Amino acid sequence: MATFYDTHAHLDFPDYANDLADVIARAQAAGIAKMISIGTSLSSSERAIRLAEKYPCVYAAVGWHPSEAMKAPADLRPALREFARHPKVVAIGEIGLDYHHLPSSQGGSTEDDARYKQRQAEIFQQQMEVAVEAGLNCIIHQRDAFDDTLAQLTPFAGKIRGVFHCFGENADRMKQVLDIGSLVSFTGIVTFKNGQNVRNTVAATPLGQFMLETDCPYLAPVPYRGKRCEPAYVKEISETVAQVKGCSADELSVVTCKTAAEFFRKLDA
Ligand SMILES: [Zn+2]
Repeated sequence: MATFYDTHAHLDFPDYANDLADVIARAQAAGIAKMISIGTSLSSSERAIRLAEKYPCVYAAVGWHPSEAMKAPADLRPALREFARHPKVVAIGEIGLDYHHLPSSQGGSTEDDARYKQRQAEIFQQQMEVAVEAGLNCIIHQRDAFDDTLAQLTPFAGKIRGVFHCFGENADRMKQVLDIGSLVSFTGIVTFKNGQNVRNTVAATPLGQFMLETDCPYLAPVPYRGKRCEPAYVKEISETVAQVKGCSADELSVVTCKTAAEFFRKLDA
């Protein structure tokens, strides 16, 4: 059976509170050998580390999500530096910029928007600094903020790499990401009927420059669309991606696992 990794899962979310052991067992049975639980706050990051300590196949990423920027402590660096030393913390993330729900869309002012964007940029910067110090790469979240995210990451190119997770942009933007030494990763959206634009980007992305993820509990692939997603469904994602790339499941397995092991170096330790 071809082996894959789920490089972006929110295993600490309450969605799995009652059956996480079963969820992980189903993933292993489906050939999903390793999964990375992603932090969205300090408490979520700590939960991800606890899960990594409990389950040999689970690893952790630690970080503060941009949508929660206004709730972040003034300086995230001391806590993240501590977390980053853990042997199973493989990346800083998810971090980045998200302009999808700006305060002005919910009754706020344009000044509120500016403050929100400013605070997102500050914590993004702090977290990339920790990544450099810790020698870890970053899991990048961006929504409706591609240009600003790329611009803020670019000065760090050569010191750290990012993976633009849940990539849904066109091939030109994919090339901009690869040009600064970063990567992209694809979710179950590749299986959606209306996912042709993402399949086009997959087709244009060279093997060795992308990874696979679920972003569970969100974005369950066909035929589970609309249900709770889980790491086992990387199998369905891999089948569509192999079809689009015109390669075998085994070939895709070898190349995506190698890409992940190089990007998340502590994944193979
Ligand atoms: Zn996520």
